[in-house]
Amino acid sequence: MTKVAAVIRADDAAEAERQSRMALENGADLVELRLDYVRDLGSSTIRRLASRVGTRAIATFRSPGQRGASGGDPTRRATILREICHSRFAYVDLELETDREDLESLRRLASGHRTKVIVSHHFAHSAEVHRVSEALDSCAAKGEIAKVAVPMTEFEDAVQLVDLARSRIGPHRFVLIGMGAGGIVTRALANSLDQEIQYASWGPSAAPGQLSLRTATRLRGHEPMILGLIGHPVQHSISSTMHEAALAALGLPAAYLPFDIPPEGLDGFLLAAERLRIRGFNVTSPHKEAVARCMDELDGDAGRLGVVNTVVLRDGWTTGHNTDVYGFRVSLRSLGLRVGDRNALVVGAGGAAKAVVDVLLREGAHVQVTNRTAARAEALAESFDDRIEVLPAGVLTRRGPWDLLVNATPAGTKGVPDGLPVPEAVIGKAGFIYDLVYNPQITPLLRTAKRLNRPGASGLEMLLHQGAKAFELWTGQAAPFDAMQRAAKEALR
Ligand code: NAP
Repeated sequence: MTKVAAVIRADDAAEAERQSRMALENGADLVELRLDYVRDLGSSTIRRLASRVGTRAIATFRSPGQRGASGGDPTRRATILREICHSRFAYVDLELETDREDLESLRRLASGHRTKVIVSHHFAHSAEVHRVSEALDSCAAKGEIAKVAVPMTEFEDAVQLVDLARSRIGPHRFVLIGMGAGGIVTRALANSLDQEIQYASWGPSAAPGQLSLRTATRLRGHEPMILGLIGHPVQHSISSTMHEAALAALGLPAAYLPFDIPPEGLDGFLLAAERLRIRGFNVTSPHKEAVARCMDELDGDAGRLGVVNTVVLRDGWTTGHNTDVYGFRVSLRSLGLRVGDRNALVVGAGGAAKAVVDVLLREGAHVQVTNRTAARAEALAESFDDRIEVLPAGVLTRRGPWDLLVNATPAGTKGVPDGLPVPEAVIGKAGFIYDLVYNPQITPLLRTAKRLNRPGASGLEMLLHQGAKAFELWTGQAAPFDAMQRAAKEALR
């Protein structure tokens, strides 16, 4: 079983010991003591740390050339490594390149204390898979455990790394890590790839792509279920926080990962998904319609709209769902909004607008749509057999009033320029303002509505309900709604 090691980066030995004890109490099998972070590291500090937590620690003194934090004086390094290998640690990390000359003697020293030797190599830049494989072989020839880490930004590189790990045969134990957000799946699959150690983050200083200790311990000993979100970009989403909270609340051996997939990478992602044990994923811009065209099967809402925001994979069969429809419908109920026979103005003509229009029409509302690009609004109207009216932006101030105004554009989202999706005069003519944007919780649109004494709500309620529905589709279990809500609110604070 893969052991979970919490990475401890403290600049003080006493603090490193304290953090180590806490991480071990919180479920870590091991700690990786990053001794290169410890100031004034000397023999007595090393011996003290070894006697206090050494039997459950990996001692790592990373060199500057391998992203270490301490100076690069070779004589000092040799002295410190000898002291480490003279002490009782469960593992010691030695570097293939930096410690080449001393590897044999250090290894002999370490074996005297039954310390296992990890020989590691960290690539500075992305590398072709055959070079990674060669590095792994070189490390394996010198140590009991071979560790290779390589930075990656492309999903395809992570797939190749997973394939390489699966193709390893023989008794050699190894750790193979795709570093950065692009390589996160190589970490989530550590147990299923039979990796020796999963390096997990502890505290705020996580390496990009590293799983938290909480997630890593949940996956330990299991074939993990991989869930996630595909989009381009995906960093802004709080879906990961929300679904991770749900998985943690139920203790499910699954991880929800962000996959940044550009449009040209979509086919490759779908082809590799099964191989990576991806059981399901959410879909966001710009893939919602393209994914709908690639599914084996679409559920009723997704089929009607040609828009997918949730995919379930089972035995090679893909089913596309649209839980935005469900999320918006349920949120109307929980906000106490009855829309039957009322007038509604929808701003936007993308995938979210389609879901909103679909619900409003089915509830019996009279719907008008406006969009920055008029042709897209016309296409939206056509897809609903022209049961909605398209209003050019220029006439909005002369039309209305509306009982409900729904913003289905990203205008007002944190980091997006252009504050208001429609002029203030239009907002003043709406009875209730529903902004699908949820980050920030009080958007420029909602702030304006409040100033005009108009009630309103953000998209948080819809986000939670669509997320809960997706969670149920993937796991077959009722979503822990309260845990998801708490996590989402915390993330938005
Ligand atoms: P989409 O398919 O990319 O469509 C975006 C729409 O917004 C298009 O009509 C676009 O107009 C318009 N638009 C983009 N930027 C604009 C701006 N600065 N000012 C005015 N209009 C702008 O995206 P989507 O999937 O429909 O999502 C739209 C928004 O809804 C996003 O902010 C998303 O986060 C939110 N959403 C929230 C939930 C929730 O659960 N709360 C669920 C789904 C979506 P053009 O046609 O002219 O490009």
